[in-house]
Amino acid sequence: MGLSDSPGGVGLNPRIVSRAQAAYLGVALGDALGATVEFMTPGEIRRQHGVHREMRGGGWLGLKVGQVTDDTAMSLALGKAILANGGRVEPLACAQAFDAWMRSKPIDIGNTVRRNLVAFRRSGNPVAAPSEHDAGNGAAMRVLPAALATLERPEFEVMSAVCAQAHVTHNNPSSDAACAFLAFTVQDFVHGESLRAVYRHRVAPFVAAHPEFAFRRRRRVNPSGWIVETMQVVMQSLLDTDSFEDCVVDAANRGGDADTTAAIAGMLAGALYGLDSLPVRWLVALDPHVRRECGEQASALLACADTSASSCARRPV
Ligand code: MN
Ligand code: MN
Repeated sequence: MGLSDSPGGVGLNPRIVSRAQAAYLGVALGDALGATVEFMTPGEIRRQHGVHREMRGGGWLGLKVGQVTDDTAMSLALGKAILANGGRVEPLACAQAFDAWMRSKPIDIGNTVRRNLVAFRRSGNPVAAPSEHDAGNGAAMRVLPAALATLERPEFEVMSAVCAQAHVTHNNPSSDAACAFLAFTVQDFVHGESLRAVYRHRVAPFVAAHPEFAFRRRRRVNPSGWIVETMQVVMQSLLDTDSFEDCVVDAANRGGDADTTAAIAGMLAGALYGLDSLPVRWLVALDPHVRRECGEQASALLACADTSASSCARRPV
């Protein structure tokens, strides 16, 4: 779908659309690259691949080249639900979308996601019980559609969208803090802000307010699924590189939950460096259905976010 046939897109700035598409494709590219080395250590990656920087599939899931996993699949499920819901991010629609995705027998699914979706099936309540243990990265990895759907909205609406999608499976203060930070940060980059500016008014205050996310004490390798370790990798990879490819490669080669760290790093780096920065050889290798969906959803979600848009509801997606 081009901009011209997007009914709500009259007022959309094409540079904003292209950075949003790069963020969405960044999630998928990071996921597909990182999944090959998920749960490996940096040493194992080095021995097997040298520096892992090509789409090669495989990994513990036995993936095809360019195949994505739950990180991208849940994002696309969420984005589709938001679009079908007229751009609104509401708990029940999110829970139903994630539940339908789980029923499709995905190749991978996080433990917290599975447990709380099973609880939703039993109770019909789309909001998971608050839990200090549910501090995994499973809500943060799929935050992008909520961030794009609320791009031009007031802060409280962004927060409410972020929590609506997150709390279906992760109702936890650390997860919430990371989800909100990632949503506002990717919005800043989509708006064209520089890394330096975003560091000053977003990253530094975030770490000051949430000291558990401090990321400069040591180089984080082998990140677990704990959102704190995920965010430490993401911030180190983003701040210590100066291109999309180097950022995503840096995150993936630290191993551990590599598909998820690389997906989140890819989201931010995609929005920061833009569509032209995405390696063409990676885009060519990426699952073509996913590639198309990411681009289409990004522009359609922005059309919803555009306050002048009135025709988002009931649009086919
Ligand atoms: Mn995954
Ligand atoms: Mn993962």
